[in-house]
Amino acid sequence: MLIADVLAKKGNKVFKILQDKMVMDAVTGMASFKVGAVVVVDPKDGVLGIFTERDVTRILASQGAAVLQTPVGEHMTPNPITCTSTDDDSAVLALMSKHRFRHMPVLDHGTLIGIVSIRDVVSQRLERVEFEAEAMRAYVTAG
Ligand code: AMP
Repeated sequence: MLIADVLAKKGNKVFKILQDKMVMDAVTGMASFKVGAVVVVDPKDGVLGIFTERDVTRILASQGAAVLQTPVGEHMTPNPITCTSTDDDSAVLALMSKHRFRHMPVLDHGTLIGIVSIRDVVSQRLERVEFEAEAMRAYVTAG
């Protein structure tokens, strides 16, 4: 299965934020969009970094609540690892697992076209496995 198939089902919406916005803006955005990550972009939508709920936990624990009023660009992971829509989902899963993160921005020809989480990929793989098992059962019992 390709990442394009994952995006076709989950949609192309990406929560993006400028690097000079406050951590609080990222937190309220993640809460209202019900996502665990935000892609940090420049004014032309070029990808600069990624900032996730894991980062929020880490900086709140180490710096306290005042960190909420500091720019997200100070805390993001710069130059995130990205994938393309033609990448195979298992390769993307392997990368996420190897580097121990759960989000991957999707860029085609340098343009941000979506983001996938480990949950998006795993749940669609499970659906596919169940579908194939059901088809196999139907085939066997029909004989
Ligand atoms: P996550 O498990 O996705 O919440 O992220 C765990 C840590 O990895 C956080 O510090 C993120 O900023 C960082 N991170 C998340 N996604 C990526 C990525 N695609 N490339 C590099 N770092 C990432």
